[in-house]
Amino acid sequence: MSTGQVDKAFAELREIFGDRATTSSVHTMAYSRDWSPRYREMNDLPDIVVIPNDTQEMARITKVAYRYEIPLVPFAGGTGMGGGAVAWKGGIMVETKGLNRVLEIDEQNMTVTVQSGITIEVLNAELARHKLWLPHQPESKRACTIGASIGCDNDSTFGVRYGKILDCLLNAVIVTGRAEAIRVGQRKASFSSTGYKLLDLLVASEGTLGTITEATLRVVLLPEAREVRGYLCRCLNDTARGLERLLGSGLAIESAHANCRNRLHFYTHSYRERYGREPQLPEWADAILFLSFAGDRDIVAFNVDKATRIMVDEFNAERVGEQELVEGWWDSKHRLEFVPFKQKWPDSQRQKKFGAADLGLPIGRLEKGYLRYLQIAKKWDQEILGMTIYNESPNKATASISFAVFVDDSSQDKVNQFYQYVREMSEMAIELEGTMSTYIGDGDRLGGFNQFEHGPGLKYMRRIKRIFDPKNIMNPGKKFRSRWIEYDQGAHT
Ligand SMILES: Cc1cc2nc3c(=O)[nH]c(=O)nc-3n(C[C@H](O)[C@H](O)[C@H](O)COP(=O)(O)OP(=O)(O)OC[C@H]3O[C@@H](n4cnc5c(N)ncnc54)[C@H](O)[C@@H]3O)c2cc1C
Repeated sequence: MSTGQVDKAFAELREIFGDRATTSSVHTMAYSRDWSPRYREMNDLPDIVVIPNDTQEMARITKVAYRYEIPLVPFAGGTGMGGGAVAWKGGIMVETKGLNRVLEIDEQNMTVTVQSGITIEVLNAELARHKLWLPHQPESKRACTIGASIGCDNDSTFGVRYGKILDCLLNAVIVTGRAEAIRVGQRKASFSSTGYKLLDLLVASEGTLGTITEATLRVVLLPEAREVRGYLCRCLNDTARGLERLLGSGLAIESAHANCRNRLHFYTHSYRERYGREPQLPEWADAILFLSFAGDRDIVAFNVDKATRIMVDEFNAERVGEQELVEGWWDSKHRLEFVPFKQKWPDSQRQKKFGAADLGLPIGRLEKGYLRYLQIAKKWDQEILGMTIYNESPNKATASISFAVFVDDSSQDKVNQFYQYVREMSEMAIELEGTMSTYIGDGDRLGGFNQFEHGPGLKYMRRIKRIFDPKNIMNPGKKFRSRWIEYDQGAHT
């Protein structure tokens, strides 16, 4: 990409978009990073920022990028943790926040159609007026958009009941790297067995196939009541076996998150900071299972009571007495300013960055994964924050795990070590018959060594990318190579 090409592209975009297209560094600076750990002094600036308002405008931007063969990167809330939204090869940054409208709420068919740049929080505020909600909710819902949630295949707080985004996604419009807008999916039907599942391909595509501009999602009724509880367990395996038993008993559980001992300390520390007293937790407690229950008040009360009896009687668990600690966990899932959240993201990320290896492991290998995490984090000199297990399939104990560490991003060595930590954790996931990523995606981290996971399948993935994006303009430098780890790409293809 030459300066001349960028200048010509900008002249065309300026003609169409006026002030909504800019090259001013005041604007491009705002897009220089996402929430992934990177060197502090790194500033990957796009050359041009454009703000489209609808699918047609998105197609016009893509046509310009296609003609001049300039990279095009969709940028939404910037809360991605894998470098996906960073335009490190320059080019055009598409700010999707202009695509922020609710297009239709269809109460009869329980669907909502939106533009992709709407945040999940704003969408739910709108749905609440109709006593509806979209239960797909990452903790970052205040900033995270529908388009990025599809693009990254996010985890949701309510995954154990409602699954991941694909469980509520019915159709979507994507402007491909060929500048064609296509609607994929099954309209408003819940499923379809016709054709190939192009809708599924958009999930976790991270802007490498095109820009998603619209989506239709299945919504549900807002529950009348909700209760949250915490159970102290003797080991991580008990949290998984306990949850499987609760679900097998027929109870309806809305959220289920388990935390290791280190992460448990993070909550007790926050509790101490906030209330000035020590929570009464037994020495033997090595893990905690947080649950939420929602629905009609009497059903919720029954569920809570039965779940407590099963956990205590059959798994020797203890219900957390200090309900404030449990409420603190719940708040940390929904509000950015509560104390645990501040601790999770120390001093608003000014001192250290939150970093994670986000592996998926078979449900029987949690303890093994935990021990290896402690070893690998130590080897790469990472400050351990702890392990959280999210359950992301409806009515099953599953393990989407955040193996979190704090990264001192003022040191290039520490940042490099963090990515070595991610690589070794990823290799461990494959060894334990799991996956390298369950909610962050490849971004600019995993490409190059994700051959371990996909083997020859990666060649087919490259071909799929070429069909959608023959000139490789869509978010280049992501998914198929790592910016951080040197790797012999030939060795595993
Ligand atoms: C405090 C905090 C809490 C978090 N909690 C969770 C959580 O609970 N669960 C979870 O899974 N993740 C979580 N994350 C990670 C992050 O929020 C998600 O990955 C989220 O999807 C990123 O959304 P975003 O709108 O900020 O996207 P961005 O970071 O702007 O973009 C992410 C990726 O999506 C692509 N993209 C964006 N918009 C589009 C589009 N319209 N079409 C195609 N591609 C697009 C970008 O190019 C990029 O590759 C959290 C992050 C933070 C900082």
